[in-house]
Formats: sequence, C-alpha cells, structure tokens
Amino acid sequence: MNIIEKTYKWNGKLSNRKSTNRIILHHAESKSCTADDIHSWHLANGWAGIGYHFFVRKDGTIYRGRPENVIGSHAKGSNSDSIGICFEGSYMTETMGQTQINAGRELVAYLKKKYGISKVQKHKDVCSTNCPGTNFPFDAIVNGTVATAPAPAATKPSQSTSSNSRPTGTYEVTASDLSVRTGPGTNYRRKTHNELTKDGQKHDKDKDGCLERGTRVTVYEWKNGWARTPSGWLSGDYLRKV
Ligand SMILES: [Zn+2]
Repeated sequence: MNIIEKTYKWNGKLSNRKSTNRIILHHAESKSCTADDIHSWHLANGWAGIGYHFFVRKDGTIYRGRPENVIGSHAKGSNSDSIGICFEGSYMTETMGQTQINAGRELVAYLKKKYGISKVQKHKDVCSTNCPGTNFPFDAIVNGTVATAPAPAATKPSQSTSSNSRPTGTYEVTASDLSVRTGPGTNYRRKTHNELTKDGQKHDKDKDGCLERGTRVTVYEWKNGWARTPSGWLSGDYLRKV
C-alpha cells in the first residue's frame, strides 16, 4: 500500500490527538475530486484545511490529508479520538468500483492494526447526515480480508502493475466518469471539458472533463497501465477491449 504524501498550507495551528479509538468513513459527495479540492473546500469552511486524514480516490490511490497524529475535522463531536477517511465519489447515487474498495480495505486494515483498534463507523453513525451514502460498501471495506500489507512508504504515486503490453485499438470506458489526464499517471492534472476532443466532449455531458461509461476510445499507446487516446491519458483499470 502506498500513501501519497502531500504538503498543504494550513490556516492556523493543528492540535495533536491524544487518543485513537476509531476510524470514521466518509464520501466526498463529489463524483470526481482531488485531495487539493477538498483542502480548498475545507479552507472555505473556515477550517485549518482538509479535515480528513486520508483520501481514497476511485483509481485506488491513497492521499495523505491532515497529519495522522492531529485532530481532524470530519465528524462533529467525534474528532478528538478518531481518524477520518474520505472516499472520492458520491455514494447516495454511485456504486463504488473494486479498485477503490480494495484500497479502502487495505487502508482500514492497516490502521486497525497500527492502533490496535477495531471500531469503524460511518459518519452517519455519529452525526445527522447521509454520509457516506446508502450505496457505500461499508462491509466490503471494513470486514473484507486483505493479505497483510507492508507498512506504507512515502512515495510518489504508484505505477499500475499492468504492463505496456496491452494491445492498442478500440476500448470502452467501464467507469461511470473517467478522468482524462495530461500524462500517464494520477500525478498529471485532469483535463477540463474544453480540452477534450470534440468527440470526447460529446461523451462528457456533465462537462466535468470525464468520459462517461460506455464511451469508445482509440488507444494509441500504453505506458505503465495508462492509455494514450486522442483526448488524453486514461487509467487502463477502467478500459475494456472491444
Ligand atoms: Zn462525512
């Protein structure tokens, strides 16, 4: 498991957390967003910055939020003894993909072991909210078994294990909203709607720069599990050869 370290500019001082008794799970309530997006939203709330300790993206990458040893800002009344994990997506309506479930499961298992705790809650267990959404796969993330993972190292975004050997040609998007990036990896920025090809724009009706499920794309090249298409680079995890 990799945790991608981030440097944030905090608005004010963070306080150390004295005890860690539980983990609280959230969704971002946004189909597609980054840890930096959340940081800016939480700054706009007047908070010190991103309130979660971890952010799990749909592509399975795990980002550091608030330092693990400080009090988060994610569940009113329950922050003083908990670690907050947020999942990209909006799980009142979306369904979580296996890649994100696996990453969340690995992170939860790692934290349970590290702190010797077993209590995991949904945000709505402690506050009046529908977070993390009725479709959120809580049991799969919390009770699923994972092979024991080594302690995470502070590294750059991990490269997918898939090789460069997938064939080029026509593929279909299997994710509900697939980001298009400027390069082969999540460390490259997401393209905007206007940066997609005319054809790509037709398959991005909500204009968030992501391609809809079922979009057919032509892959020219594979690199570290990423596919180069006319509109930009796509994660091969969400492409099916047709
Ligand atoms: Zn929440």
